[in-house]
Amino acid sequence: MSLKGIHVLVTAGPTKEAIDPVRFISNHSSGKMGFNLANECVKRGANVTLIAGPVSIPYPEGVEVISVISAEEMYQAALTQFKKADVVILCAAVADYTPKYKVDQKIKKQGEEMTLELVKTKDIAFELGQIKEKQVMIGFALETNSEIAHAQEKLKKKNFDAIVLNSLRNAGTCFGSDNNQVSIIEHNNQFDYELKPKQLVAIDIIDYIQKKVMV
Ligand code: C5P
Repeated sequence: MSLKGIHVLVTAGPTKEAIDPVRFISNHSSGKMGFNLANECVKRGANVTLIAGPVSIPYPEGVEVISVISAEEMYQAALTQFKKADVVILCAAVADYTPKYKVDQKIKKQGEEMTLELVKTKDIAFELGQIKEKQVMIGFALETNSEIAHAQEKLKKKNFDAIVLNSLRNAGTCFGSDNNQVSIIEHNNQFDYELKPKQLVAIDIIDYIQKKVMV
C-alpha cells in the first residue's frame, strides 16, 4: 500500500535544555526509532517532515528535516508543521522540565550544594491533541511499571489514535539499541509485537497505521 500524497510529521530524538552556555539537561534518546519511521514512510511515497532533536545519527534521505535543540523549539516547529500533516507520529523524548532562568555566563561552583529551579515545558503531544482535526496521531510511551494502564491514560489525555508502548523491562531494547519490542495500544485493543530491529518495528507500526487508522 502506498502513502503517496500523504504528509507525515515525525518528532524524534531528545531535546537539550540549556542550564548555562556549557551545560544542559537531556536524556538517552538516540532518535533511531523515529528516524526509521520517517524512512519507512518515505519508502512508501509519503512527504515526510522530521523534527529532530540533537542526535548523532545521519538524517534519512528524502525527508525534510527541521533540526531543533530545546523542547520549546520543537513545540514551535511542530505547531507550524501540524496543519498540513495527515499523520503525526510523536516519537521524541521531550524534556519535561527546563531551567527556569536562562543565563549567559557559565555558572561558577559555590558551596557543597546547588539547587536548579526547573519549570514545565509544553507537552507538544497534548497541545497538538487539542487542535487535532483530520490528523491521525500516534504517540509513544516509555514506561517502567503499570505500563498498559499508564499508556492508556496517555492515549486518552493526549487524544492519540493509538500509542506505541516500549517497556524498559524488555532487555536489549529502547535507548540507543538497534532493537525494540513494542505493543500498540488502542482504547479497547492491544497488539503485541516480537523483539526485532527498529527498522522492522517501523514497518509494523506503519503497516498498523495504514491498515487500522487510515481508513
Ligand atoms: O507523558 P509522556 O512524556 O510519557 O508522553 C509520551 C508521549 O508524549 C510521546 O509521544 C512524546 O513524544 C510526547 N511528548 C511530547 N511533548 C512533551 C512530552 C511528551 O510531545 N513535552
